[in-house]
Amino acid sequence: MGFAETYEEFVNHLREVATLSSCESVLGWDEQTYLPKGGVEHRANQLGLLSGMIHDKSTDPRLGELLEELAGSDELDADSPRAANVREARRDFDRATKLPKRLVEEMSKATSLGQQAWIEAKPKNDFASFQPWLEKIVALKREEAEAVGYDDVPYDALLDTYETGASTQTVEATFAALRDELVPLAKAIADSPNQPDASILEREYPVDVQRTLGLEAAEAIGFDFDRGRLDVAAHPFCSGIGPGDCRLTTRYDERFVPMAFFGTLHEAGHGIYEQGLDTEAYGTPAGHSCSLGVHESQSRMWENLVGRSRAFWDYFYGRFQAGFPAALSDVPLDTFHAAVNTVRPSFIRVEADEVTYNLHIMLRFELEQPLISGDLAPADVPAAWNEKFEAYFGLVPEDHAHGCLQDIHWSAGLIGYFPTYALGNLYGAQLFDAAEAALGDLDAAFAAGTFRPLKEWLNENVHRHGRRFQPTDLVERVSGKPLSHEPLMRRLHAKFDHLYGL
Ligand code: ZN
Repeated sequence: MGFAETYEEFVNHLREVATLSSCESVLGWDEQTYLPKGGVEHRANQLGLLSGMIHDKSTDPRLGELLEELAGSDELDADSPRAANVREARRDFDRATKLPKRLVEEMSKATSLGQQAWIEAKPKNDFASFQPWLEKIVALKREEAEAVGYDDVPYDALLDTYETGASTQTVEATFAALRDELVPLAKAIADSPNQPDASILEREYPVDVQRTLGLEAAEAIGFDFDRGRLDVAAHPFCSGIGPGDCRLTTRYDERFVPMAFFGTLHEAGHGIYEQGLDTEAYGTPAGHSCSLGVHESQSRMWENLVGRSRAFWDYFYGRFQAGFPAALSDVPLDTFHAAVNTVRPSFIRVEADEVTYNLHIMLRFELEQPLISGDLAPADVPAAWNEKFEAYFGLVPEDHAHGCLQDIHWSAGLIGYFPTYALGNLYGAQLFDAAEAALGDLDAAFAAGTFRPLKEWLNENVHRHGRRFQPTDLVERVSGKPLSHEPLMRRLHAKFDHLYGL
């Protein structure tokens, strides 16, 4: 068989895997949005069966043969997108073939039921009913790490799934540098006499207006609703199901307007990335997002660097005042802008401000490592959580729903995932600097409601590359500098030194 035919068979094979996975995504989206309680058990069976089929197809020996043939071909130019497809598909194949099918199916079932257990345990503050699932899932993740292999510590194997090339050691070093500057900034803000009036955000904000304005803002920044939609979920997410179909979710609180609005901008940022992928390359690494950290850099950029900027509100505040006259007619723009940038230690990660957010991530990173190494028993998680929380934030969670039961991740088997959120903040600030260096100051455009130049720059410099480069290589290539905490810290100081009069 010639190169062209081999490559075509290889691409078709990957596309079938991706199409099967996209069926799994639809079922997963439905599970989080519309599935009735009675369907939970059957959904677990559906997902278990599908994940087994996906595993079979991803580990098909024929795919291994195709990869061998292609890797040995001299028709593959080392820097080409095709070579990147072969390299990245090889990485996925090696990882998948190292995982026994039994482990994959057990993981799928345990996490599907574990998520349901978590959904029930959280409002009841009932860690004990979730603990057996956490034990089961941690045990399976440790097995996964051993099966996949690692250089240094088992946690590396899990981290690498979500952030190719990241290691526990490098993440630790980056976080340490960030922590050294973040903690004093958070302290200076807490000690400042200039505190915003955040109570204005807890007035009455009718949910239907929140939804309308969220849709309007998401569309304004460039999310295409002909190729996507927005629904409600308890734990908001974005699911890029396939070309032309990207699902966003959010959640509303009538008495706390920022949650849904910035949550929608955040998920729309993820969605703009999914919609910016090369649809011609669907199913291959070249048509897939680079990593979770790079994904998060996009959501955080639109949520925080754009959505919480003064320029964005110069453009959008009139709509807010018109939509919520009872809540906002007496509130000047400066007061509102300061309020949506309130920095305050708080219990819930997803509601945390830009300054303290990364501390929430560091705490989880510090608990996940001993969970996986075996130094921390799942039963001891609540106590360890509260102790660390007090050390970082000076507060003790009043219950587990505000502590170790707040996130869905562990119940979904997503251990090693949290660090990508903080890496995303770092990548996002560095990429935004690069965008401004290329496009000039973006504030005037934002104030006029023009977001297209930034979106198109991201399409061109980040989205269309897919997985061609590793995350930190992509950031370095686009920004011309190795990854550093400095761009993020500079941006935080530029905004908060002014707002808090530091
Ligand atoms: Zn996100």
